[in-house]
Amino acid sequence: MIHFVGAGSGAADLITVRGARLLGEADVIVYAGSLVNPQLLDYAKAGCAVYDSAKMTLEEVLAVMIPAEKAGKAVVRLHTGDPCLYGAIREQMDALDAAGVSYDVVPGVSSFCGAAAALKAEYTLPDVSQTVIITRMAGRTPVPERENLRALASHGSTMVLFLSTGLIPKLVEELLAGGAYTADTPAALVYKATWPDEKVFRCTLGTLEQTARENGVTKTALITVGGFLGTDYARSKLYDPGFTTEFREATR
Ligand code: SAH
Repeated sequence: MIHFVGAGSGAADLITVRGARLLGEADVIVYAGSLVNPQLLDYAKAGCAVYDSAKMTLEEVLAVMIPAEKAGKAVVRLHTGDPCLYGAIREQMDALDAAGVSYDVVPGVSSFCGAAAALKAEYTLPDVSQTVIITRMAGRTPVPERENLRALASHGSTMVLFLSTGLIPKLVEELLAGGAYTADTPAALVYKATWPDEKVFRCTLGTLEQTARENGVTKTALITVGGFLGTDYARSKLYDPGFTTEFREATR
């Protein structure tokens, strides 16, 4: 059994209890060294073999994991955040299926959740947005044309952009072209959310590029956009005294 484990967004104590236990039991750990906090390796037992996948190809990762699993070793493949987002786990799982190796997946705290915590924000505010669009700019990895940023931006929803800090001028142009956001729409850059050197920069779409440039943010950051960063919203129905729910009668 190979365990794909979400490492969480940065802070070593944000991994799940299950993930930490599996790290402690592992004979072999392959971790994404470009983004996983190396402090997480402190959970590993003495003598555990550790590989940094940042320097490896898919084939090399598989060549470590498959023989180890077949030899009866406990193997953890440690991915940053939650493995379901931009984690390239599907291709590994398909190769394991083909090799007859079983695996499971342990979720983690994605960086978009870490960023919301850093911002002390709620992405889904009544009367502001009830939708979070998670996307990225097309870079060396293309984005399907029907998901172009301009079209997604036309909803004016909360948006979280991964992997896009190097492409801000074009990103802002596309977001504005969607017609729902303006140069005054609030935005924030969250650098290394939940890491010890986390930084939060609040700005607007109009000042996003300058904010990133002046603060030297070029990678390991998320861009968040939308009215959820503003001051106006409606209070919830769920906790409204005048609203009856399954668990509580209205009191007025
Ligand atoms: N699976 C990961 C995302 C991997 S893609 C997750 O769930 O978070 C890598 C991109 O995620 C980075 O380029 C950056 O945009 C974002 N990212 C990862 N960790 C981050 C962090 N701690 N703070 C801000 N952005 C982060």
